[in-house]
Amino acid sequence: MNDKILGIDLGTTHSAVAVVDAGFPLILADRDGNRLTPSVVHYPAGGGEPKVGHEALRMRSTAPKRTVYDVKRFMGRRTTDLKEDERNIGYELSTDPGSPIEVLMGESSVRPESVSAAVLAHLKRVAESAMEASLDRAVITVPAYFNDAQRQATLEAGRQAGLKVERIIHEPTAAALAYGLHRLKESSRIAVYDLGGGTFDITILEMVDGVFRVLATHGHTRLGGHDIDQSIVEHFLEQEELQKSKKELLQSPETMAKLRAAAEQAKKTLSQELETWIEIPFLTQSLHMRFPFHRETLEKLAAPWIDRTRECCLRAMHDANVESQELDQVVLVGGQTRMPMVRERVGDFFQCSDFEETRGNIRLGQDFHAQKGPTLNVGQHPDEAIALGAAIQGAMLSGSLEHMTLLDVTPLSLGLETFGGLMNVLIPRNSTIPLKAGEVFTTAVDNQREILIHVLQGEREKASDNWSLGRFVVPFEPSPKGVPRVGVQFEIDANGILHVLARNLHTGEEQVLEIQSAIDVTDQQVTEMVESSLEHALEDMDSRHWIEQKLKADQLTQAAQSSLVHASGLISTEEREAIEQKISLIRQIIGSENTESRTGDTDRLKQGIRELDEATQELAAGLMQEMATKLNPLP
Ligand code: ADP
Ligand code: MG
Repeated sequence: MNDKILGIDLGTTHSAVAVVDAGFPLILADRDGNRLTPSVVHYPAGGGEPKVGHEALRMRSTAPKRTVYDVKRFMGRRTTDLKEDERNIGYELSTDPGSPIEVLMGESSVRPESVSAAVLAHLKRVAESAMEASLDRAVITVPAYFNDAQRQATLEAGRQAGLKVERIIHEPTAAALAYGLHRLKESSRIAVYDLGGGTFDITILEMVDGVFRVLATHGHTRLGGHDIDQSIVEHFLEQEELQKSKKELLQSPETMAKLRAAAEQAKKTLSQELETWIEIPFLTQSLHMRFPFHRETLEKLAAPWIDRTRECCLRAMHDANVESQELDQVVLVGGQTRMPMVRERVGDFFQCSDFEETRGNIRLGQDFHAQKGPTLNVGQHPDEAIALGAAIQGAMLSGSLEHMTLLDVTPLSLGLETFGGLMNVLIPRNSTIPLKAGEVFTTAVDNQREILIHVLQGEREKASDNWSLGRFVVPFEPSPKGVPRVGVQFEIDANGILHVLARNLHTGEEQVLEIQSAIDVTDQQVTEMVESSLEHALEDMDSRHWIEQKLKADQLTQAAQSSLVHASGLISTEEREAIEQKISLIRQIIGSENTESRTGDTDRLKQGIRELDEATQELAAGLMQEMATKLNPLP
């Protein structure tokens, strides 16, 4: 028997298992490479072994009554605790007043802890086959609000799965461990914002000498990614192609399941892309569905759900008696927080003043709060953090972390040169290796034939002030700006070698660059780089702001100029002159750039952009109107 202790996130929609191996916390994948297991169990009608995870999920639309999902909601609860709408689920729940809840399946029934036990047993097998060892000790996580009966039910599930549960820990605590927050200054305060598939939790933690204490916790037991999916499905049903058959579609569980799956997939894609196509070739015998879906539309549908979490955040802070400025970190967990809009809104809720880990999906150009607020900590894999943290707790318990030397970290930030010659960090300094990070890039001008992938190392804002590690070119067929897409992935393996992979997302062509020296810099070099970045921090920020505004100005003036060409009849001569005047003002500011001090210039440019934006409102509306009329001519 191996003495390793597994870390298990027994989630409402997904579960995951992790272990600390050779000092690294790792998520263990099943044979198909899945790192997350749907918390779904299917009980075959003829008896036999229950099916778990992806296999069970596939049965949900065909055998809903025998396929149990979201069972975590019912753990350790009694029928009398249930609200009527909680019974609104694909399978049947017992009604005996006051008894523990059971799932009814024909003559037989099963307790929620046994369903969870099936999930846990599956994860145990996944871990054993990944580690090629038998493993039976585990740390399992539960929400901070779980009461004693709910914790006991979780323990019982572990027991039934043949696991020795060494400890039950809070999900937010596990997340904090995964983010390395136990290594922060002696005393810190953290908010953990966890938006999963069906539940939302916000927890304020205080850490003193490496021990976490829950100060307050709030949430919604019925709010999460699924609600967003549902809003997307409703939006799909309003599409012209589907509207006519809406009634028929609503009646078919299979069709609705297909729509829901397409909605979720599209939502995930739009965390990376701005547009995707919804394509279901055989939604019904005669109905082939195909239409575009944009991030902007998704955000409109998702906003009300995300905004509902705000009140919980405020209440939790109030209960914990802390102001947002008193928080050190706001940590994002749960798959739904991969959505860029969630990150932006949460950053606003807590008045975060900076971001950590990935800058990739955060919208540029947004002004961060000037006042010093908490850091918004955005992990690479927010849905894996809890299992990783549980594994870290397991390693602490088994003592294996004590013998460990400090984890290897990246000494300096790694990134790429972007438009305008700025450094775009993909892997921040001090990230623990091995790790992966990626981002999608596009072209800045029409008919651009190639993108230069220039790999940089260093802490300075301007690309030219950092060290160049290597470069290569990704070619394209000529197309309008913004259309070509290149996914770039940085991967640092356990040996400290950086593999840079660039994939043309249209053709699938790939190029790889291997860089040996990424981790191999001397302490002296690191110190010099960090010192120079501090020394030049202000002027560097100046340059970044200036360059960002300049790029924005370029885009806007180009767009305005080309709209003016089509504008005849839409606006008055005065309006046209006003726009032309704003454009030339912007050009003049850019032309008279003073490299010594740019602060004033940047502000003037910002003002110019704002004015041009206002001056073109009318024109933009007119053009939109014209386009709409062209697309849908009045009868
Ligand atoms: P839970 O804690 O409820 O088990 P997870 O943390 O695994 O759930 O989160 C699942 C939710 O996250 C689902 O609604 C899923 O659609 C959503 N999700 C997963 N990946 C992404 C993504 N890339 N973009 C947006 N949402 C995502
Ligand atoms: Mg979760």
